[in-house]
Amino acid sequence: MASLEDVRRAQANIHDIVHKTPVLTSSLLDEYCGNQVFLKAEHLQKTGSFKIRGAANAVKNAVREGAASVTAASSGNHGQAVAYIANRLGIPATIVVPEDANRAKVAAIEAYNGHVVYCGMTSAERIPKARQLADENNGIYIPPYDHADIIAGQGTIGLELLEQIPELDLVFVPVGGGGLISGILTAIKALNPQVKVIGVEPESANDTYLSLQRGEITAIPPSATIADGLRTAQPGDMTFPILQKHLDGLLLVTEAEIKEALQFLMERTKQIVEPSSAVAAAPLISGKAEVKGKRVAVVLSGGNVDLHQLAGFLPDKLHV
Ligand SMILES: *Cc1c(COP(=O)(O)O)cnc(C)c1O
Repeated sequence: MASLEDVRRAQANIHDIVHKTPVLTSSLLDEYCGNQVFLKAEHLQKTGSFKIRGAANAVKNAVREGAASVTAASSGNHGQAVAYIANRLGIPATIVVPEDANRAKVAAIEAYNGHVVYCGMTSAERIPKARQLADENNGIYIPPYDHADIIAGQGTIGLELLEQIPELDLVFVPVGGGGLISGILTAIKALNPQVKVIGVEPESANDTYLSLQRGEITAIPPSATIADGLRTAQPGDMTFPILQKHLDGLLLVTEAEIKEALQFLMERTKQIVEPSSAVAAAPLISGKAEVKGKRVAVVLSGGNVDLHQLAGFLPDKLHV
C-alpha cells in the first residue's frame, strides 16, 4: 500500500513539472452553502487536470528504469498527461484511443507530440494494445490509476491541501478509478487523520459505492454520465483497499445535481471546469452534503471541457 513517504518522494520528483495550484475562495459560494469553501484549482494545472501529477511521477521513474518510450490507453486527461510529460522528457509516447475518440482530445494529445493509435471501443481492447506496443518498443505501459507511482503522484494534492488550508475539516474528491482519492487519503490520513475525506460519484457510475457496500470490487455496465472522467467500470486492485481502510464517506450525485454545480461554478466563481470537477462540488451546492460551518476543500480535478458540448451540460432551467 502506498505510504506517506511515497507521496513525499513523488512531490520531490515532480515539483519541477507541476504547478502548486492555488486554492480559490468565493464569498458567494460560502454564503450559499454555509461553509468556508476552498476550491483546489487543478483545472489550472499543467495539461488542464491533476493527471499530470501521477503521470509525471510514473514516467520519470520509468525513464530512470531505462524505458525508451511509454504508452497509455486513454483519450482523456491521462492520455494528454502522459503525452505531455514524455515530450518534456524527450521520449516518444504512444496513446491508444477508441475508434470514436473526440477530435479535440486527439488534437490535444498530438499537440504534445503524442503518437495516436486507434483501437476498438472499450478499454478491454485498448489496454492489451497499449501493453503490446510498450513491449515492442522497449517501453513501459502507464496505467491511469492502479499503480503505486500514480497514486503517490496524485497524493501530492493531499500534502498541498494540508499546507494551504489551516484547520481543514473536510475534503470532497471526485472518484473514478480511485487513484486521486487514494493518493489524497494516503497523505491526509498519515498527517492529520481528523480531516475527513469524502468521495463523490455520479449515481450512474457508482462502481466504488457498490464495491464498498459489498466489501469487494464490483463492476458496473458502461455509464453515460456527463462526468466522463468518472466513467470507470470498477475501482482498482490497488486503490480499493486504500478506500476501504480510510474513506470517511461516499456520496452519489445525480446528473441534474452535476449540471447545477457546473453552472454555479462557471456563473458565480467564473471557473471553467469539466463536469468531473463539478461532481465534487455538487454535494455542497445541492445541500446533499449536510455540512455547515466547516472549512471544506473541493478538488476541482480538471478543466478540459469541449466548449461546443458545454451548453448540453447546463441545467434545463436556470439556477436561481
Ligand atoms: C481521471 C479524473 C478523475 C478521477 O480520477 P481517478 O483517479 O480515476 O479516481 C476526476 N476528474 C478528472 C478531471 C479526471 O481526469
